[in-house]
Amino acid sequence: MKIGIVGCAGRMGQMLVQEVTATEGCELAGGTEGPGNPALGRDVAAHAGLDACGMEISEDAEALFAASDVVVDFTLPAATANHLALAQKNGTSLVLGTTGHDENGLAAIETAAKDITIVKAMNFSIGVNVQFAITQQLAGILDDDYDIEIIEMHHKHKVDSPSGTAIGLGEAAAAGRGVSLDDVSARGRDGITGARKKGDIGFASLRGGEVVGEHTVIFAGENERVEFTHRASSRGIFSKGAIRAARWTDGKDAGLYDMLDVLGFK
Ligand code: NAD
Repeated sequence: MKIGIVGCAGRMGQMLVQEVTATEGCELAGGTEGPGNPALGRDVAAHAGLDACGMEISEDAEALFAASDVVVDFTLPAATANHLALAQKNGTSLVLGTTGHDENGLAAIETAAKDITIVKAMNFSIGVNVQFAITQQLAGILDDDYDIEIIEMHHKHKVDSPSGTAIGLGEAAAAGRGVSLDDVSARGRDGITGARKKGDIGFASLRGGEVVGEHTVIFAGENERVEFTHRASSRGIFSKGAIRAARWTDGKDAGLYDMLDVLGFK
């Protein structure tokens, strides 16, 4: 399967080049960068720290889409718009990891998915997606006698809290109980907050060191506590999941899919 990487000189782009090269049955179709990027003209694989592959990092996204069965995009929302058009023109599947699309960007993705196969996820980690699916299931099985609390820890540089993944876990837990997270979310407890309300889903955030990302979902019952933890130690978990998604697109009908489809939870 021929896999192209747009934005191949980026942090994720380089890891994706490494993952494609290391994965049996996958062939690197090439890599692009945006205009003016200093990596243009360098060898795609050598720039990712591998032996040279003989293909230069190019600005020619059109040629890359024509040469690829599937293209993986971890770039910028503005770049994704062009990539969607090229994927449609060439019948190329797309794996979309880029975040921050506005309403128009999201609508364009949905429209393109009528013609081509797209896998889009805010978090491509296989383990985190398993945690989403199991959290939803457990929240349904363990009724609201089990208090749900979500704890996350990230490196000291992170500026937002709770993490997007923690909120995603809260949404999964709320969905499992058939409620909206907005109605039950309990954040930022400090001082005399009163007793915990039954059915609340609580969040706590820790920051420190260089922790890549840890998420624990706690179901605290009367006499027992179930905890489900995911710990990330490298951003390599995203490239591994994205290339798994890229391989999964082979032979799939046009449509908009996510990692839960790829992992067989849907
Ligand atoms: P980065 O800035 O290191 O890499 C982005 C690359 O895209 C850069 O090299 C940039 O030059 C390139 N680029 C910009 N315009 C381009 C164009 N027109 N054509 C080709 N390349 C272009 O950023 P990053 O940390 O690798 O993250 C990239 C994106 O992926 C972000 O949106 C980030 O939030 C997202 N991300 C998603 C996941 C996930 O699991 N979904 C995980 C990590 C990062």
